[in-house]
Amino acid sequence: MTKMLDADVLIIGGGAAGTKAALELHEQGLKVLMVVKGFLGRSGCSIFATNLLATPDESPQAGTEEQIHRQMDFLAKYTHYLGDQEYLKQATLYNIREFFPWLEERGLYVRRMPDGTLIKNLPKGLQTWAPKMGTSGTVIMDILRKEVLRKGIKVLEETTATSLLTNDGTVVGATALDYRNGELLIIRAKATILASGHSNYLSLRSTGTRDGSASGWVMAYRVGATLQNLEMQWYHVSDIARPRAWMRLHLYPNPLPATAERAHLHNTDGEFFFSGNMYPDNAAPYYMQLKHLYKEVQRGKARWDGGYYTSYRHIDPKVIEKFIYQSQFYKKLGYDVTRDMIECGLTYHMNVGGIRVNGQTMESGVPGLFIAGSVGALVTGGLPNVMYDGRVAARYAGERAHCLPSPEMNSKQVQVEEARVFGQLRTEPREGYLPAQVKRQIRETMWKYMGYVKSEATLNEGLRQLQRVRTEVVPKMRLGSDTRRFNYDWVDALDVADMLEACELQMCFSLHRKESRGAFYREDYPITDNEHWLCHVLGHQEDGRLKIETKPVDLPYTKPKERQADFFALDY
Ligand SMILES: Cc1cc2nc3c(=O)[nH]c(=O)nc-3n(C[C@H](O)[C@H](O)[C@H](O)COP(=O)(O)OP(=O)(O)OC[C@H]3O[C@@H](n4cnc5c(N)ncnc54)[C@H](O)[C@@H]3O)c2cc1C
Repeated sequence: MTKMLDADVLIIGGGAAGTKAALELHEQGLKVLMVVKGFLGRSGCSIFATNLLATPDESPQAGTEEQIHRQMDFLAKYTHYLGDQEYLKQATLYNIREFFPWLEERGLYVRRMPDGTLIKNLPKGLQTWAPKMGTSGTVIMDILRKEVLRKGIKVLEETTATSLLTNDGTVVGATALDYRNGELLIIRAKATILASGHSNYLSLRSTGTRDGSASGWVMAYRVGATLQNLEMQWYHVSDIARPRAWMRLHLYPNPLPATAERAHLHNTDGEFFFSGNMYPDNAAPYYMQLKHLYKEVQRGKARWDGGYYTSYRHIDPKVIEKFIYQSQFYKKLGYDVTRDMIECGLTYHMNVGGIRVNGQTMESGVPGLFIAGSVGALVTGGLPNVMYDGRVAARYAGERAHCLPSPEMNSKQVQVEEARVFGQLRTEPREGYLPAQVKRQIRETMWKYMGYVKSEATLNEGLRQLQRVRTEVVPKMRLGSDTRRFNYDWVDALDVADMLEACELQMCFSLHRKESRGAFYREDYPITDNEHWLCHVLGHQEDGRLKIETKPVDLPYTKPKERQADFFALDY
């Protein structure tokens, strides 16, 4: 029923961040163990990454102060001035100088014009696309997966970490459910890297996969890590409205490859209401799309879940056919993106916030626990950035593992977790709810009360609804079968506990921020208030309760001009 495993470094998650960390640690001669809830390089959201920010500059000024500054300005706005600017600078340098050469050495080609120059979007040239077919992320993760397997790094797929283990406040490993065999693994490690990805499966319409159930946030919070800016939820405006399985089919507001053209948005009556070119300096105006969509919804000319349309009809069809990989998927759904208006809906997308982390070392503040990738609060996207995280986390986790003996385990903690995990294996009451039904109730609550438009009243009601699920629905939750092998109900039941906690935390953080910023809109506080709220909202557990505080953001390179401004008038 349980099995003990040992590693120098345990890595939780098999996306770009986790695999990059594993490869670097293997190079250091350390014994690495990866546990992956889905499949290595086939789960999470790295596979969806398409346009890669921070292109390799082929000019003699590559990596100059001017180029860095241009990128910093963009990233500061992209993170609504909440990003760690020193980290963003270092990650950008890595992207420009190392990320692309590293991949090209391994056989990935970025797209080039016949004259050999890179295909970028115009006029800024801030993004590039890697493969000829499909998303960049799929090809990159193929390369990474093969490299990890070829090197013989130990990977346990379909194995989900359920808790972090501590001894005297230090993380000494984790428990993980191998749901292929129904075994609970007790993993001891000198250092643990948490790379479990975004927590974006929390709402009904979502670009996330089931892996995004926030287990990383919750596991770290439970062992004393601080969470940061969880309220900063990003949304996609132009994801296809249906079928629901295709919500990751996105019509970008960013300029398309090889052109400065961008998608247009039209309301229910077919009237044009948004193009990214209304903000020519903004390379990725997702949050500006939202502001415009909000006005259409207010006028009754769009709904949050549909009734508005994206089109590429104004763009030369040859550009679409040649450069936009999605056109092939749309064809399968019966659409011709060169002509058709595609109905879109709002989706929960990535998180700007996450686990608070030191951007120079990837330390979480809890000894023994390192954070890499989108589960942390440093990144708002960007596959290249999360690879940078993996690299830095590997360096500092490796240093720790090289100089420490194997830690002592706390057997009491293991017993408690064993009882919790196996306690979920119940099939009574027969008239009760299946875990998937409970997850749906949680996601519906988030869609209704933690959507783009929020206020004290909606958030308090959302918290009441989550409490109702906790006290009235969860006690009646039961699995369809108590088999231990491949029991997905079991995994869903574990997700329920994490999702409930994460959703409550997101709502509490949202109640705390009394302004509107970027993708975060409070109807009752519609001002972007740099005077009082250019700060992180931080939360950690104290005596079993959430303690929230704020901390000013460091702004060493670039800062907003306005002290206070009408949220809808701002381009960040
Ligand atoms: C729809 C979409 C489009 C995107 N487009 C772009 C883009 O165009 N360009 C760009 O640069 N970036 C893009 N991004 C963002 C980028 O893909 C991600 O930020 C980044 O790749 C995340 O990498 P990661 O390794 O942190 O997490 P992920 O790739 O999500 O990997 C997380 C891993 O953790 C595992 N896991 C989760 N929980 C557990 C657990 N409890 N135990 C064990 N394993 C666990 C998962 O199975 C998975 O293997 C996009 C994201 C999405 C969702």
